[in-house]
Amino acid sequence: MAEQGKQGGKVPFGPDYVRAISPYIAGKPISEVAREFGLDEAGIVKLASNENPLGMPESAKQAAAAAIAELGRYPDSNGFELKGALSAKLGVPQDWLTLGNGSNDILELAAHALVTPGQSVVYAEYSFAVYALATQEIGARAIVVKARDYGHDLDAMAAAITSDTRLVFIANPNNPTGTFVPAAALEAFLAKVPAQVVVVLDEAYNEYLDDDQQYDSVAWVRRYPNLLVSRTFSKAYGLAGLRIGYAVAQPELTDLLNRIRQPFNVNSVAQAAAVAALGDTAFLQRSAELNRAGKAQLVEAFSRLGLEFVPSSGNFVLVRVGDDDDAGARVNVALLKQGVIVRPVGNYGMPRWLRVTIGLPDENTAFIAALERALK
Ligand SMILES: *Cc1c(COP(=O)(O)O)cnc(C)c1O
Repeated sequence: MAEQGKQGGKVPFGPDYVRAISPYIAGKPISEVAREFGLDEAGIVKLASNENPLGMPESAKQAAAAAIAELGRYPDSNGFELKGALSAKLGVPQDWLTLGNGSNDILELAAHALVTPGQSVVYAEYSFAVYALATQEIGARAIVVKARDYGHDLDAMAAAITSDTRLVFIANPNNPTGTFVPAAALEAFLAKVPAQVVVVLDEAYNEYLDDDQQYDSVAWVRRYPNLLVSRTFSKAYGLAGLRIGYAVAQPELTDLLNRIRQPFNVNSVAQAAAVAALGDTAFLQRSAELNRAGKAQLVEAFSRLGLEFVPSSGNFVLVRVGDDDDAGARVNVALLKQGVIVRPVGNYGMPRWLRVTIGLPDENTAFIAALERALK
């Protein structure tokens, strides 16, 4: 054994399950694409990370600027002001709320707090990449349930739960496919899940839902001690760079997350900006309207070009750009050369598809024109 060490590189560090992880692939930053393809940053259109094309709300910018003056101090570990605002908005006490460094933090906290190595976590094929990461990094076993029409098959997911399952992840709307599970189906699912299994209902795109899709998941949290609803300020609220999200769950579950989170997991600029954004209903409404119009623009173009797409309830659309398994990568490079960044989803097992974030009208137009050229 000692000799192996001397030879160097023979003794692997860390557990097998960590070495087996495929790192998360993020959307390419504008600066990187500019460097790689010799393009001017100003002309690049980024539709790759489901960010709000309006950027950060003005109200949040002002709150963030004011908060900078206090950055010499640690943030409020308990997020009193933001939890107060969320508590008033959602109608739950503050001890039902957890703040996260992005909702990504919440997803990982749930996995770490609830699952031991060897126990299992259930999630759907073609759902958010972080569910696999959160499962693998704790040495848990993933039970990946086949998708139905690119979305969650909740009957199959309920049936997949075993005696060692402790966690189920559901994204609604789902990323990267944009599919939506109606309230009635979710409610039926929750009623079936055993009490020792926690359901994380990830509502990162909740604010984009149409009126007839809206449902009251916080009411379900009141009924189900094993339900945790996760939301984010990264998408419709336009604060992706600040990293802030939150969870709503009954106190017993919330208390567990609170025990293992970093004491200062959410910085003070993010907290201040989130309070402002939460109160900025005009911005939220404008974002949702812009998204609706942009979605119509993309869907019209895809139909005209004869491209299959998945009807989306989020701020992005998944589109099939060819019939061979190189299509996604090939068309992606052709788009990058024209300064348009979208997201290939080969790592999700969808090599013929691209996920396109809905942008400003001009950005959508530029993407559509570049796509037409790329497909020629
Ligand atoms: C974007 C996204 C998130 C979280 O993003 P954060 O920036 O970490 O809040 C969570 N779930 C899904 C499904 C997402 O698409």
